Amino acid sequence: MTIRLFNTMSRKIEEFKPITPGHVGFYSCGPTVYHYAHIGNLRTFVLADLLKRMFLENGLTVTNVMNITDVGHLTNDDDDSGDDKMERGAARDHKSVWDIAKFYTDEFLRDCADMNLLPPTHMPRATDYIQQQIDLVKQLEERGYTYEIPGDGIYYDTSKFPRYGALTGGNLSGNRAGARVQFNDAKRNPTDFALWKFSPTDKKRQMEWDSPWGVGFPGWHAECSAMSMALLGDHFDIHTGGIDLSRVHHANEIAQSEPITGAPWVNYWIHSEFLMDKSGEKMAKSSGEFLSLGVLKERGYDPMAYRYMLLRGHYQSQLVFSWDALDAAANGYKNLVRRVADLMADTPGEVDNTVYDAWHDRILAAVSDNLKTAEALVIIQDLIKSPDVNAATKIKLIEFIDRLLGLEFIDRAKKIYERENVNIPAEIIDMANARAAAKAERDWGRADAIRTQIDTAGWTVMDTPDGFKITKKS
Ligand code: AMP
Ligand code: ZN
Repeated sequence: MTIRLFNTMSRKIEEFKPITPGHVGFYSCGPTVYHYAHIGNLRTFVLADLLKRMFLENGLTVTNVMNITDVGHLTNDDDDSGDDKMERGAARDHKSVWDIAKFYTDEFLRDCADMNLLPPTHMPRATDYIQQQIDLVKQLEERGYTYEIPGDGIYYDTSKFPRYGALTGGNLSGNRAGARVQFNDAKRNPTDFALWKFSPTDKKRQMEWDSPWGVGFPGWHAECSAMSMALLGDHFDIHTGGIDLSRVHHANEIAQSEPITGAPWVNYWIHSEFLMDKSGEKMAKSSGEFLSLGVLKERGYDPMAYRYMLLRGHYQSQLVFSWDALDAAANGYKNLVRRVADLMADTPGEVDNTVYDAWHDRILAAVSDNLKTAEALVIIQDLIKSPDVNAATKIKLIEFIDRLLGLEFIDRAKKIYERENVNIPAEIIDMANARAAAKAERDWGRADAIRTQIDTAGWTVMDTPDGFKITKKS
């Protein structure tokens, strides 16, 4: 099937052609583990997951990498200044940097499992690739792209790379004008960035390493170039991240990598738009006020309701988070799950392969067309309602939809189905009959007492127009 994706580099929707036929390699900038991921971060990781699922359902094999940033990300990316985010997080939590890296990495992995994100093929940590980052800086130094700012670090000279900023239209003035920070005067150009930062002389950093330039730590951008090339080679298909990364982080990754590879490094750049908070601001970790998936779960939301909310939008459009919007998505999701549970109780019939193929292709075509998940969800609503598709065919299609969209319809519906269709013990049925008899005699007190007994035994009895219905309590 034709796959089309919006490429930030060309600013066009392009037909996707893999470098190696039948295989896709892609890299996604992962979380900085100094705090919980917020649900905006998760939006960007859902984009990477959807891409992977879409490729797999199109029959391609996938090697994908998502890094864990556990060093080098400073509070002020535009100027390579400010505090190390990890050291600041460690001070806040009264733990060591290594301990918070482990703690928030584990929390992140739990969020990924809850959001049903397929595990990436590789999940490298920046601190495990220090040597590769030093090697990258050495190669750039040999090619004349670096200079030293004494007492500060080794910097990349962006004037040596004419294509600098091509990802955002080559408009470098935006980098200067958009920054609300004081620029480091010692830099040759405002867009230059740190490749290696020296440790301060007056205090000891928790994370630091020896290098040919002195003790210090890598600049944040170095890790993604070093790890992606180590794991995917010098030329790979796709690089993803949030839209905020395109202007500086990804511009810098390209500038670091292409002088080494000597050729275009990545073919397609795919960026997710922001999740905004209700005041119209980008949800951000640094604001200190953000929603994690844990908060949503505490409030009783299934993470799949949030995933469903994301899929009802398009990854290239901003999405404003509100509890009302989440409620609406949760209800939409629950309704679909209810319909799937009902299908499980239906007379299945035989799978009709022709009907299956027609719906399968319509849904896959929508998602393969620049990830139009909202369109796919409309088709799915039609499928569920369609009187022309039997239950067995619908269930097989829902299994495919679960692989493609990761919404766990079958899992959630099965739980309902099993709860509603378990073997009901004879004594519970006897009690329910006794209650019905009491009601027929208008002995409401006795009927209520029996209902309480049934409830205490772990069952619920409900009255329906066709008589009573007994279900196991969840
Ligand atoms: P970080 O953990 O801050 O390094 O960010 C991890 C990923 O989340 C990056 O790809 C960011 O671009 C992305 N991101 C950050 N904030 C948002 C947001 N509000 N909405 C969507 N993606 C975001
Ligand atoms: Zn990155």
